[in-house]
Amino acid sequence: MILRTLCSVLTMAVCFSLIPVKRLTPAPALRPDEQVAKQIRDRGLTDLDAYAMLTELTGTIGGRLSGSPQAAAAVEWGRQTMLKLGFQNVHLEPVMVPHWVRGAVEQGMVWGPNSGTALTLNLCALGGSVGTPEAGVEGEVIEVHSLKEAGELGDRARGKILFYNRPMDPTLVNTFAAYGGAVDQRFAGASVAARVGAVAVMVRSMSLAIDNVPHTGAMGYEAGVPQIPAVAISTQDANQLSELVKADKTGRARIKLSCQTLPDVESANVVGELVGSEKPNEVIVMGGHLDSWDKGVGAHDDGAGVTQSLEALGLLKRLGMTPKRTIRVVLFMNEENGGRGAAAYAAKHLVGKETTIAGMESDSGGFAPHGFGVTATPRVYRRIQGWSSLLQPLEADRLTPGGGEADIEPLGAKGVPLIGLQPESQRYFDYHHSIKDTLDKVNPRELEIGAIAMATLAFQIAQHGL
Ligand SMILES: [Zn+2]
Repeated sequence: MILRTLCSVLTMAVCFSLIPVKRLTPAPALRPDEQVAKQIRDRGLTDLDAYAMLTELTGTIGGRLSGSPQAAAAVEWGRQTMLKLGFQNVHLEPVMVPHWVRGAVEQGMVWGPNSGTALTLNLCALGGSVGTPEAGVEGEVIEVHSLKEAGELGDRARGKILFYNRPMDPTLVNTFAAYGGAVDQRFAGASVAARVGAVAVMVRSMSLAIDNVPHTGAMGYEAGVPQIPAVAISTQDANQLSELVKADKTGRARIKLSCQTLPDVESANVVGELVGSEKPNEVIVMGGHLDSWDKGVGAHDDGAGVTQSLEALGLLKRLGMTPKRTIRVVLFMNEENGGRGAAAYAAKHLVGKETTIAGMESDSGGFAPHGFGVTATPRVYRRIQGWSSLLQPLEADRLTPGGGEADIEPLGAKGVPLIGLQPESQRYFDYHHSIKDTLDKVNPRELEIGAIAMATLAFQIAQHGL
């Protein structure tokens, strides 16, 4: 064995000596844009500053419901953070926001008088809901699966509690599409039910996870229709309640809520930028929303987008990269229950001498990004596509038509190209608007890669225009 090995080593040595020695050719030099992208990437992945900021925001302030003292603290935190990062023209743009408070009482139970079964519900008020009288509201439960079905109940709904139980469609791989297909029940369910005389609504939580955690979210009342209480119940409770009312048609529920809407409060969008060296009046808006629901600490929704935007511009600043066009970070207020910050920003900035050339937002969670959704003309879309190779090392180079987020939509309505960061979506709605939206669900590198992708694309737009 040893002899044979020795022989083969000798043979190899002889053979290799006959192979002409090839000069090692150096890797091709990076193009200037690739060099810039690499610098942003290397620095971001070394520092991981987005996560440090998210730790501070969620740890020192927590949930940031519009109009709350925490939202006010978040505004000041945003301003101070922009100053620390060395942004220019850091300022607040005031806006009046709704002030809904949850209150201490959120209780519910269901029982089947005939079957003798009872269930205490894991529920929470939907944002904007009216409260109940102290004794609560009580009624027979009717399960429905759509607004249409609820409306068609007619008089049968009078005095009843409607239970909307259409789940998010599990066959859709993109969970945002599944959410979009179910959320009408949460937003509009109460008024549709009230029109046919129902006294309250319960809505299956917008989540694909089957657990005991209720997920809140915005609901709205139609003008001229009685306002009835609206709650979300956990998916597990929704499944059990469905069984209960199937087994016992006389199943009843009682709900007690102490939530209420107080007068509007002054709050603000937080704005800071790096002024363009050549075309300062051409502006790229990059942002997320500073407010959040109150159940968790708004880590993914949308602490992630806030800190990614801050980090994206902060990275450019740290690297001494001066954009030719202005890149402006906007931390929007009141995305969750009103969109007042987005409307105020668009009203103020779509007039006058500056031109908004692109709106970019991260509001789909801080998970590893796949790429961007782009709403733009075919020409602008192709132009952005031309830079996607710079995002390839981040594995974030997938561009899909359509996209953007709620805060930049008013810009899109005026023809501004919209760009929304698109992260992996499987876990987002497990946490969304619930006590589970906490810092431990965020991975520092995944979060940072989103920030790097935003910085990379925003800088290309700033240098080359759209
Ligand atoms: Zn959000």
